[in-house]
Amino acid sequence: MISANGSCSRRPGEAKLHPPVEKLSPAEVRELNERFNGMRTEEILGWAWTKFGKRAAIGTSFQGAGLVMLHLARQAGLPFPVFTLDTGLLFPETLALKQRLEDFFGFPIESLGPDLTVAEQADIHGAALWSHNPDLCCTVRKVLPLRDKLCDLDCWITGLRREQSATRAEIGIVELYAFDAASGRDIVKLNPMANWTREGVWEAVRRHGIPYNPLHDQGYRSIGCQPCSGKADGSQGERAGRWIGFNKVECGIHTFLPKKLDFQI
Ligand code: SF4
Repeated sequence: MISANGSCSRRPGEAKLHPPVEKLSPAEVRELNERFNGMRTEEILGWAWTKFGKRAAIGTSFQGAGLVMLHLARQAGLPFPVFTLDTGLLFPETLALKQRLEDFFGFPIESLGPDLTVAEQADIHGAALWSHNPDLCCTVRKVLPLRDKLCDLDCWITGLRREQSATRAEIGIVELYAFDAASGRDIVKLNPMANWTREGVWEAVRRHGIPYNPLHDQGYRSIGCQPCSGKADGSQGERAGRWIGFNKVECGIHTFLPKKLDFQI
């Protein structure tokens, strides 16, 4: 959990289940990126399992790439913990999909929620915070719960792809972020789907019969919270339809941590 000074601390009586692993150096991260760029996703995931075990976890919002990654991890026998951010404002279809995926894959998906209910948030920050301050809303409902979760991890595995948007075009397959200033702890962010195309993802979803969000068939390209996700046509980019009317393209979970090194692939 996050303490008042912003560093990680454990709740009273809470056991430390998995000790942190040895840190990666920036030089190692550079070398891994060069190596991983030509490797298959399941091989990259295999490296993460060997290196971090259950100190690595897959975070997913059930977009196509995350679904394929879950499938590949399961096929390869890599039992990563899996979590999702449940803001309390997700579509019913998304909540139903979580259950369908748990049934399909046969493993649980942990839901991480914010400290404030939607009603409590409205009392403190005003009604429909997303309509007048979506950055604050995303911080409360997504970033802080994620930050709390990352206290227990050394490696956060995402389904980000370079093709998704300009903000994601230069992501590394391995990225190193400063996480906890008090302890000097870093977090490795692994993006094993970085090189996948949208077409490749959806071909794999269909070929393997992986359950997906039916809203995609109704014109939603990228699906997040109900108030901030709209329909969009294919010409508007993969993340079109998110935060319509705002100059906002990321919720903040992929931008709140300071990167420890910049490199191009
Ligand atoms: S996506 Fe919208 S509703 Fe969801 S947390 Fe962000 S601002 Fe709030």
